[in-house]
Amino acid sequence: MSKPTKPPWLKTKLRSGPNFQDLKKIVAENQVHTVCQEAKCPNISECWERRAATIMILGDVCTRACAFCAVKTGRPSAVDQDEPRRTAEAVKNMGLHHCVITSVDRDELDDGGAFIWAETIREIHAKVPGCSIEVLTPDFQGKPEAIKTVLDAKPEIMSHNMETVERLHRHIRPQAQYQRSLDVLRQSVEAGLQTKTSIMVGIGETKAEVLELMDTIRETGCQIFSVGQYLQPTQEHEPVHRFVHPDEFAEYKEYGLKIGFNHVESGPLVRSSYHADEQVLQNKILHPSQLKNDVLAL
Ligand code: SF4
Repeated sequence: MSKPTKPPWLKTKLRSGPNFQDLKKIVAENQVHTVCQEAKCPNISECWERRAATIMILGDVCTRACAFCAVKTGRPSAVDQDEPRRTAEAVKNMGLHHCVITSVDRDELDDGGAFIWAETIREIHAKVPGCSIEVLTPDFQGKPEAIKTVLDAKPEIMSHNMETVERLHRHIRPQAQYQRSLDVLRQSVEAGLQTKTSIMVGIGETKAEVLELMDTIRETGCQIFSVGQYLQPTQEHEPVHRFVHPDEFAEYKEYGLKIGFNHVESGPLVRSSYHADEQVLQNKILHPSQLKNDVLAL
C-alpha cells in the first residue's frame, strides 16, 4: 500500500500560550498522566490553550497492545491508591468545568481498576463541585460488576470507544471484542447515563461499514457519537489507509443526527475528548452559569 500524503486539513498550528504552560505545570506538579501527551494527540496545543485536557488514570502502562494506540504496553506497576486524590487536585487546579478521565487497560486486576475509577469520580465530585465528569473507560473484560462499580459512581457521561468496524476488530483491537464493547454501551444506557462512543476512520474500513456501525451503536441507545481521522502515531503502528475528506465527515454528522444521536462530533481532527466540554453545554448537562472557564463562555 503506498503511503497517502497528509492533506492540508490535518495541519495543526503549534501554539504554546500561557494556558498551555500552566496546564503543563499542573500536570507535572500533581504527577498525573494525560492521554493528550501519551497518545501524541495532534490537538494538544489547541486543547490545552483552551484549558481542556484528558487525564489518564491507573498509571501509564497498558496491558493491551492495540494497533492504533501510542500508549506504552507492558506490565504495569502496583495500583497507586493516592491517584484519585491527586487527580481531583489536578482537576481543581486546572479550573475545569468539565473533565475527561480515561485509563490504560489493567486486565491483570480482578476488577480491571474499577474501584480506582469510582474513587476518582467520587473525589472529583467532592473536591470540585460543579465540574462534570466524562469517563472514557476500558471494557473491564465485559465484567458487569466492574462496569456497575463505575456507573454507580455516577459520572455525568459514560463513554466507551468502539474504535472501529466489526470486521477490523481482531486486527486493530486484538484483546477487545466488538460485542463486548456494545454491551458496555448497553449497560450504561440501561443505568440511565448519558452514553457516548467514538470511532476512527481511515484505518481500513469502508463507508458502508461506518454507516452500519453507526446504526448498530444507535440501537444500543447510545446518545453521543464522535468520529475522527486515524493518524499513525509511530512507524510501528497500523498505517493510515486513507485520509477521509471533510465532506465525508459532514455526511457522517448528518447521518448520525438523522438516526437519532443527540450530538455528533465529526471531523478530521475529532478525538473522543475533542470539544467534550462544549458537547456538555449543548447537551445541557451543565448550565452555562456553572462555567468556570471564561474561554468556553464566549
Ligand atoms: S482531543 Fe482530547 S486527548 Fe487530544 S489534546 Fe484534546 S483533550 Fe487531549
